[in-house]
Amino acid sequence: LGGSISRALHQMSNATVIDEKVLNDCLNEITRALLQADVQFKLVRDMQTNIKKIVNLDDLAAGHNKRKIIQQAIFNELCKILDPGKPAFTLKKGKPSVVMFVGLQGSGKTTTCTKYAYYHQKKGWKPALVCADTFRAGAFDQLKQNATKAKIPFYGSYTESDPVRIAVEGVERFKKENCDLIIVDTSGRHKQEAALFEEMRQVSEATKPDLVIFVMDSSIGQAAFDQAQAFKQSVAVGAVIVTKMDGHAKGGGALSAVAATKSPVIFIGTGEHMDEFEVFDVKPFVSRLLGMGDWSGFMDKIHEVVPMDQQPELLQKLSEGTFTLRIMYEQFHHILKMGPIGQVFSMLPGFGQELMPQGREKESQAKIKRYMTMMDSMTNEELDSSNPKLMNESRIMRIARGCGRPVRDVVDMLEEYKRLAKVWGKMKGLKIPKKGEMSAL
Ligand code: GDP
Ligand code: MG
Repeated sequence: LGGSISRALHQMSNATVIDEKVLNDCLNEITRALLQADVQFKLVRDMQTNIKKIVNLDDLAAGHNKRKIIQQAIFNELCKILDPGKPAFTLKKGKPSVVMFVGLQGSGKTTTCTKYAYYHQKKGWKPALVCADTFRAGAFDQLKQNATKAKIPFYGSYTESDPVRIAVEGVERFKKENCDLIIVDTSGRHKQEAALFEEMRQVSEATKPDLVIFVMDSSIGQAAFDQAQAFKQSVAVGAVIVTKMDGHAKGGGALSAVAATKSPVIFIGTGEHMDEFEVFDVKPFVSRLLGMGDWSGFMDKIHEVVPMDQQPELLQKLSEGTFTLRIMYEQFHHILKMGPIGQVFSMLPGFGQELMPQGREKESQAKIKRYMTMMDSMTNEELDSSNPKLMNESRIMRIARGCGRPVRDVVDMLEEYKRLAKVWGKMKGLKIPKKGEMSAL
């Protein structure tokens, strides 16, 4: 995909005259690529029309950065499609909220329910899981197993066959137990069928969820729009989670799901494990969709803001795929000391919404400072090691004592490091573009 887009843009930059035909050829090539990434045909066609309106042929003919102009226009259009114009309903910690998960069987609901619960539990919520899937044999066992592993209270039944009844009982029980995030997992069935949607409507009516999350497998291709729309028509879907983004699918169906439900994507699933779950970030997602890699926007920016001679070592280390605690420390240092670099880093997957959510800069800075204080109590060996097993219990205890912070905080910091190391690990083998070169497109 990335290949064909970059080929298209290349052809264009080589053409001496930028006339309408060249632009059309280029857009057609990109259209094909986006369709291959499962972006819905109608969305691609609308985008094409918009781009033609936005991109002024005279500008292109005169300007030397033609590729950049087109790239930016496409990038912005795709970002726009992913923004439904309003954020997902925000739940309040400490106040009981009910979240209902819907989606076809196999889309990843049960797995994602647990990930969602676990994610919030780590942030201080009191989640609980209710299994209202009475359709599939073994559904309750699966949820029970996941919940037990994550130490999250659960409710379900082996004998009761009425999903509405179980859902209501579970929600009531956990409200009494002061859980503030009550998650209702539902059944899916293989096909979109009337009985399924009727069941979803009934469960929703009975449990009055504050938020309904539509779970979508990233590999369902062009079926995404109809599927999302069908669920939206029976229950008030308010957010989308796209699963299996660790696979081959580029996830273009997410654009359809947003368009069909008028709701934002809030998380993506990136594996079968509990912690393989990421807050959704529009820009890296679109980069990936265009085959630009998660890093190109970042690389472009880094060349704009950071003099090349100040960062070669970092880029070198990143391309080797080693992300040590010391690198994290250095980057935190940059973020705090130098405003613009802070902004650059907020474009990085993992650093963005997760570490430095918009509008909460003060809090983020305080957190980063706290992390750095803890790292000041680490030895050189610890800072430079790329072996995650090195940080054993006794080292953690020593660091906690050294910096006068609870062990829990040190564990938090190391979790953050692991998360970032995983994201940055994808940098491995990256060809570092020289200043002035286009990165991926
Ligand atoms: P449900 O029928 O909608 O409840 O789906 P499940 O939660 O049972 O998931 C179906 C299959 O997809 C299981 O084998 C999961 O382990 C797997 N799965 C779910 N999410 C992901 C993901 O993000 N990545 C990968 N690789 N597998 C996933
Ligand atoms: Mg399930």
